[in-house]
Amino acid sequence: VSTFAGKTVAVFGLGGSGIATARALIAGGASVLAWDDNPESVARAGEEGVETQDLRAANWKDFDALVLAPGVPLTHPRPHWSVELARAAGVEIIGDIELFARERRARAPEAPFIAVTGTNGKSTTTALIAHVLKAAGRDVQMGGNIGRAVMTLEPPAAGRHYVVECSSYQIDLAPTLDPSAGILLNLSPDHLDRHGTIDDYAAIKERLVAGSDTAIVGMDDAYCRAVAARLDEAGRKVMRISVTQTLEEGFFARDAEVMRAEGGGRTERLFMLQGVGSLRGRHNAQNALAALAACLSCGLTIEEIRAGFESFPGLAHRMEQVGRFKHVLFINDSKATNADAAARALSSFPRIYWIAGGLPKESGIGSLRPFFGRIAKAYLVGEAAPAFAATLGEATEYEISGTIAAAVEHAARDAAGDPAGEVVVLLSPACASFDQFRNFEVRGEAFRQAVLSLSGVEPLGE
Ligand code: ADP
Repeated sequence: VSTFAGKTVAVFGLGGSGIATARALIAGGASVLAWDDNPESVARAGEEGVETQDLRAANWKDFDALVLAPGVPLTHPRPHWSVELARAAGVEIIGDIELFARERRARAPEAPFIAVTGTNGKSTTTALIAHVLKAAGRDVQMGGNIGRAVMTLEPPAAGRHYVVECSSYQIDLAPTLDPSAGILLNLSPDHLDRHGTIDDYAAIKERLVAGSDTAIVGMDDAYCRAVAARLDEAGRKVMRISVTQTLEEGFFARDAEVMRAEGGGRTERLFMLQGVGSLRGRHNAQNALAALAACLSCGLTIEEIRAGFESFPGLAHRMEQVGRFKHVLFINDSKATNADAAARALSSFPRIYWIAGGLPKESGIGSLRPFFGRIAKAYLVGEAAPAFAATLGEATEYEISGTIAAAVEHAARDAAGDPAGEVVVLLSPACASFDQFRNFEVRGEAFRQAVLSLSGVEPLGE
């Protein structure tokens, strides 16, 4: 990072991306002092050649910026001490995506930069865009909230495309975010633990598209529709997408057909969308339309995009088929950390042995009632088990299994004896994983291991 050459930068938060950020700043000629509340992370940073110092004892007037890890609270429920010290000293607070945005502006402002946000579908959309661009022969770097931290990507250069997934935490720390194409897929209540209210959360996500040359906005929820209207008023270029309505202008899906509307009643059929690779369902059509708009903004042809969709391999832990035993299919949807995401999975199958629970979200699973009739039995794990049991009530059979391993074993046994024929054992937890696992990937891996250790199960996928 050359934009901080000669400056003095505090880096707080040294798990994952923090060390990469510190090293990139040092390589660019900045003096860096780094710290973390966890002594192990501090030790690891030291081993990697990053100078560490307890920043509580530092002279904050010396710092030009505080670079904060995205997990460190900026406001809610209360600011981290490093944030308070930086604010008191008038030091600017940013994150690694902001560093990337500045670096791109300085080195290669014409390098396409696609930033993706929304409540659900971010990773799928990001991975899909990267795949389609690569399949069309473009030079692509993908990262951010998915895969690699942005500071570990190849540096900005002309013709290099960046596809970056941004969580609201990361947008919050990127005051001058200016993607060439910004995507806001959808907005529903989630992550309110950090942002307080849905309005604060929506306002943060809106910033990503407000700073974009082209704003791509999903029109299938009221928050996003309001965002699109405000962007219009501000005279920004907006590309609308919808999977639920016919649009006057933009891209929409009708009976699996992708349509482009250009205003004045002019509507053109583009191609049939049966699914994206192995991905099915209306929510994936939303992701695909966003990817279509983004790839068109990079100059790809419709045919290149359609071909890229077809060859997309999908993502682990999202509706991933991991195994089969006779008429029972085992599906890992560990990434479904809220009720909205679990609803997509539950709506995809007629008869489900459902493994759910973990660290509960405030909104609970009341919104999943319309799908309770599809649940042959629920297997509840983690801290959410009692609350989920209460919501499932007498309408649906359930057991408190406690762990993923026990849930898989019991669900497999019951599903194998199901007289109905084709059924699924589905892990789609509607909860965060942190009560029992380090993250949703580790939870999904635990599910996969438990499934594959059952006798007679045929592995699917990778
Ligand atoms: P994110 O990165 O935003 O968390 P993912 O692409 O990893 O999103 O998908 C997470 C979960 O959300 C999956 O279980 C998937 O079934 C569901 N999902 C994917 N795309 C959408 C969408 N556009 N709208 C609603 N739910 C979606």
